[in-house]
Amino acid sequence: MTDAPDVGELRPPVRTLMGPGPTDVHPRVQRAMTGSTVGHLDPSFLEVMEEVQELLRYVFRTDSEWTLPISGTGSAAMEAAIANVVEPGDTALVPSNGYFGGRMAEMVRRAGGDPVSVDAPWGEPLDVADVRGACEDHDPEVVCFVHAETSTGVLQPEVPALTEAARDHGAVVVADAVTSLGGVELRTDDWGIDVAYSAGQKCLSAPPGMSPLTVGERAREKIRGREEPVRSWYLDLTELDDYWGDGQYHHTTPISTVYALREALRIAAEEGIENRWERHREVAGTLVDGLDEVGLERYADDAYWLPSLNTVRVPEGVDDEVVIDHLLEEYDLEIASGLGDLSGEVFRIGCMGYSARPKNVRYLLAALEETLDELNAA
Ligand SMILES: *Cc1c(COP(=O)(O)O)cnc(C)c1O
Repeated sequence: MTDAPDVGELRPPVRTLMGPGPTDVHPRVQRAMTGSTVGHLDPSFLEVMEEVQELLRYVFRTDSEWTLPISGTGSAAMEAAIANVVEPGDTALVPSNGYFGGRMAEMVRRAGGDPVSVDAPWGEPLDVADVRGACEDHDPEVVCFVHAETSTGVLQPEVPALTEAARDHGAVVVADAVTSLGGVELRTDDWGIDVAYSAGQKCLSAPPGMSPLTVGERAREKIRGREEPVRSWYLDLTELDDYWGDGQYHHTTPISTVYALREALRIAAEEGIENRWERHREVAGTLVDGLDEVGLERYADDAYWLPSLNTVRVPEGVDDEVVIDHLLEEYDLEIASGLGDLSGEVFRIGCMGYSARPKNVRYLLAALEETLDELNAA
């Protein structure tokens, strides 16, 4: 057997996080996480859970009772959404205009469903007429879309028209709101979204680990009518609702991460959700103006601009990884490279939550300009 490893005290570097998430955590959220651990059925914790649910309804703009955070990251909330609404044999439309639609398709398959893709090129949103056409051709039980595509920096416009097309065919609508919740306008109930999910570590600026989900009445009805139990025991929403709604043991929620999410949501409520959307537009507006000045060409069309995640093309002759490594090593600053089809083609620069501050934007622009100049001179 090996001896006890001699591992030093943990001293993570202090970074400025301007990538696709996680984002800078507010000091108040950091402090909230240090609150004492209590039992997951402690009366004080049941109260915390109720407050988190109320705050989540506020940021999602929903009245739905079934609004709770999933223990896990955004992908766990994505899987909870899909595993519960998709029954074996169901057809689900999924988008093909970015990285995350592919992940949805795989989850639909694993839930026993049949994914059918609604095609649009990477870098463009779905066309509502295409969604309508696909509904007519395939008669899906579920229609999925990505509200804010983090791989391309594209915001899906015309959400109410898209959900109407799906609802006209009786389909339940699932929205990936991972990079929109708390950062760009999202109105779950008014826009006819049946299920929306997100993650703590994007525009809410909580640490990763608890991921918001909301399920409206139409989706609940579909879930209640399932003939076969949800294939995932851990993500079965009916069981999870017994815990979040009635305080019955299901699993041990990550207590400290719930504390953190509560504080992050409290900050969002103090700011006011609409003011928060406006701040993201404003701060990210100065970011894209600055990127123009640095001479970087925008990837996504202005019409579909996603303030929380900005994509610019990697200039000719520049190695994206060299730039990204240099920013991390010399500036303690994180941005990201392209994902999937866009690998090596774009930089992805986040502007989310507590990271969406003028100070961060000024720092990023200066660091990026210096780095590109240095590389040009070399
Ligand atoms: C980040 C992200 C996810 C996955 O979330 P994880 O927390 O990494 O599991 C899903 N969808 C979109 C659009 C995302 O940006």
